[in-house]
This record gives sequence, structure tokens and C-alpha cells, in this order.
Amino acid sequence: MKPLIYDFSLEELQQWAKDNGEPAFRGGQIFDWLYVKRVNDFESMSNLSKTLRAKLTEQFSINALTEITKLESKDGTVKFLFGLHDDHAIETVIMKHNYGNSVCVTTQVGCRIGCTFCASTLGGLKRDLTAGEIVAQVVRSQQILDARGERVSSIVIMGTGEPFENYDATMRFLRLMIHEKGLNIGQRHITVSTSGIVPNIYKFAEEDTQINLAISIHAPNDALRSKLMPVNRRYPFDDVIESLRYYQAKTGRRISFEYALIGGVNDQPEHAKELAGVLKTMLCHVNLIPVNHVPERKYVRTSRNDIFEFQRILADQGVNVTIRREQGHDIAAACGQLRAKHMELG
Ligand code: SF4
Repeated sequence: MKPLIYDFSLEELQQWAKDNGEPAFRGGQIFDWLYVKRVNDFESMSNLSKTLRAKLTEQFSINALTEITKLESKDGTVKFLFGLHDDHAIETVIMKHNYGNSVCVTTQVGCRIGCTFCASTLGGLKRDLTAGEIVAQVVRSQQILDARGERVSSIVIMGTGEPFENYDATMRFLRLMIHEKGLNIGQRHITVSTSGIVPNIYKFAEEDTQINLAISIHAPNDALRSKLMPVNRRYPFDDVIESLRYYQAKTGRRISFEYALIGGVNDQPEHAKELAGVLKTMLCHVNLIPVNHVPERKYVRTSRNDIFEFQRILADQGVNVTIRREQGHDIAAACGQLRAKHMELG
């Protein structure tokens, strides 16, 4: 299996050029073809010699993703199921907002975190994606947007997988995305979302970035969180909050909390009050996400009234809170469902 070209940094491509008897700037030209001109084959890299193009073709692969399914919503959301070289499948979503287009990327094939409301975890973790396989999702999205004269303005790492369990690949992906000679996505327009892998929250606090951090919290206390998210038994609620306080003290950055509202489970006024008690001293923002019906778990949707009441209680305590606008509702597909369906069929 040839390595994927998107796995390599600019410096590594420059080094590769030198190792192949070429000046380092050839590496920069390759980087430009990948991220600025966004070609799909080495043959199109017309300012490189035939010999160098042949070497690239011989040593690297460039096509990481094969489109299996594409679903387009009336609201502009486009959801893809992509096949990988080893026949695994992953989901990528392009969401259209009034401020631009965001891409939601996947970092692992499946997930072992086991959140009880999530279809992505039903078959467990198959493997980590490489940085290049994550990069390819954004490049492909940008190629699709190129046809409309639009660009990827933000990235959320909220697709299938736990990015902090694939930490090195995620960080390499992020560095490639923000590279000024590449897609040059603004750091403040990128959000990485974790279920609370405590050691890597501390590690992320030490990275010198402006990238946003989101935490899937989903419960206001240890006992309920352990029921909804088995990962909480490994990294308990209080330890997660402590690591976030450290992150905030270190970076001064606002943290986003994702809270999936599940009817009758974690969406009652007492849950909102308890959550407000924990978060009101933090610089943060809470996103409430009413979950879709998950047949495997018998979960139901929170009523409209309960959603607004939950929001009101948090806001009254001074917590910054919004209800996540649903996108792509008509193409169904809560995260992971497209892939789950594909696995059933396969
Ligand atoms: S919500 Fe995210 S972390 Fe939890 S099981 Fe699903 S993919 Fe994994």
C-alpha cells in the first residue's frame, strides 16, 4: 500500500524532493497542486518534470476517497459516505450556513467510546484514520465547493470517532489545514470536539493554537454521565471539568459544551440547574442538541417546551446557551446512521 500524499507536511515534501535529487521548492510546488490548485492526479502537476511526476505516481497514492453515497438536503447540507482503500466507509458532511460552509470530518472508522445515543459506535472501533485521510475529506469538500465558487470557511471535528484517541493524526491534520500555503483555514474557525479524554485535554492545552475546543458533556454529574457515556468511567466528570479549567487558565479560550438532550433522561429542570451550577464560573458556551430518535436505544426526543425550559434555566444562571439548529433533517442521518446502514447492507 503506497502512502497517501496528504499525509505529508510541506517540509516533508520538500525533503522528499531533495532526496530525489530535486531542489526543495519542488516540494512547495507539489503542496500547491494539492491544496491550492487541488488536482486529483500527479499527471496534472504540469510544472514538474515527467520523471518527477512518474516518481510521485510510483511512490504515493492521491485518491483516498471513493464516493459511495451522496445525500443532499433542501437546506444545502450534503452528506457523503466515502469508501477507503480497505473497504471501510466513513461519513463527511458539508453544512451550509449564512456565514459560509463548514465541513464535519471523521477521524476514526467507528468509535469505541460507546455513547449510548450514537450510531457511530454500534460496531465498535475498526481503525484510526491517517491524517491524510482526514485531510482528503476537506480537500474533496473544497473541490465540490469550487464548482459553486465557494470555500470551506470552517471545520468541525465532530464526525465519527474520538479525535483525542487519534491525537497525533488529528494534530497533523490541523497543522495541514491551517497552513498559510495550503487551504489556510483560520484557526478560530476550526473546532475539535472530544468526549473528555483527560490526558489529551492537558496535552492540547500545551499546543500553541487558537483552535476551539468542544466537550461532549451530555450530563450534569458523574452518575448520569457514566450511564450515557461509558468513557466517563475512565475519565470521571470532575476530572474532565478540572482538566478544562486548566485548559482555560492556560489558553484563556472559551470552551464549547455539547449537551444532547434525551427525552426524560437528562433533560429535566433539575439537570439544567445542576449543569448551570458547574458551568456558571467558566468562560463557556453550551450547545443544546435535541437527539433524534435512536430506535436501538428507545430514546425519544425532548419536547419543544422542555428544550426551551432547559435553555431558560441555564441562561438565567448566566450561562451562554443556544439550541443547535438542525441541519439535513430531511436526509435523516444523525451522525453514523448512513454508515451503519451501509454496514448492514454490506
Ligand atoms: S458521540 Fe462521538 S465519541 Fe461518542 S460514540 Fe459517537 S462518535 Fe464516539
